[in-house]
Amino acid sequence: GAAGRLYNFSAGPSALPAEVLQQAADEMLSWHGCGMSVMEMSHRGKEFGSILAQAFADLRELLAVPDNFRILFMQGGAIAENAIVPMNLIGRRAGFTPKADYVVTGTWSIKSQEEARKYGEVNIAASTEAQGFLSIPPVAEWRLSDDAAYVHLCTNETIVGVEYHEMPMIGQDSGSVVVADASSHILSRPIDFSRVGVVYAGAQKNIGPAGLTLVIVRDDLLDHALPITPTAFNWRIVSDADSMYNTPPTYAIYIAGLVFQWLKRQGGVAGIERANIAKAQLLYDYLDSSAFYVNRVDPACRSRMNVPFQLRDATRNDAFLEAARARGLVQLKGHKLVGGMRASIYNAMPLAGVQALIEFMREFERTSA
Ligand code: PLP
Repeated sequence: GAAGRLYNFSAGPSALPAEVLQQAADEMLSWHGCGMSVMEMSHRGKEFGSILAQAFADLRELLAVPDNFRILFMQGGAIAENAIVPMNLIGRRAGFTPKADYVVTGTWSIKSQEEARKYGEVNIAASTEAQGFLSIPPVAEWRLSDDAAYVHLCTNETIVGVEYHEMPMIGQDSGSVVVADASSHILSRPIDFSRVGVVYAGAQKNIGPAGLTLVIVRDDLLDHALPITPTAFNWRIVSDADSMYNTPPTYAIYIAGLVFQWLKRQGGVAGIERANIAKAQLLYDYLDSSAFYVNRVDPACRSRMNVPFQLRDATRNDAFLEAARARGLVQLKGHKLVGGMRASIYNAMPLAGVQALIEFMREFERTSA
């Protein structure tokens, strides 16, 4: 990588574009000559106001967010949204007891449904746990409740590496609505907002610094919070205050804004999606052609962002990681629940990084024979 930087395959927090980091460094002491760092600005001042407005506008443009959806910049990460979603939504069906459907496709959706149980009844509409989370259950097989407030999905499971390649469509007359945790693939591909009511994501993979949390919510879903909902986590209140009910994570929003501008220079979401398809295909094609490495995920559901793989000879794992590190290829160790390796190849990972990884893997296989 450029200027002594490593190819960082971390699942999150993960690599950011070097250009963005350089720009932030250049502007650190005095943003646009104003004599202050963005970190030191009042969130109510005109300088930060312009940064916030630009970030909202660029994100709306990048994802083609329709006018009837609000964009909220919140805090607490996706784990906090596991509680904030049910608090804001699970009571929305008048005359029914609070209830939601959850589709379980990996570690993150397991966590989401566990947290929701504090606020209402949870129905597991589908789960791939018995099959080891290697695929996405088809929507035709989901057992949705008649009286659910919403159906929750994790549209890219970061640990097992399965991704919905199409936003599932549930019956418009069901009275339910899709809520998606898109933390680990937000902005890597378009989102079909005609099929979802809420999309949320922690920022630390494709957006910027950890802590900033993005929520995109249809405006008819803002007014159903349970009375116990903390004011700072009530979507209506956050929305009406333009995400400044409390002091927002100003510096994280600024960096996110720089990432949005960078994405526009990459041809927007359509451009980055083409690059992501090319990177993922190169890596999966190599894995499938090799007898030394294996990825067991159903090819129809493989994540473009998180590529777990195993060495057939697991005794070579430590040697692999050490040799990779010596080549500047870091953070390849798989999650402890899955073992083996994982290459996270988010938006900021260049094709050259994936090519360098494959070249190293070929060589490691050769020298291990
Ligand atoms: N959901 C998904 C899909 C994730 O990948 C992660 C990983 O960080 C989380 C939720 C948890 O997010 P956080 O730790 O930011 O709350």
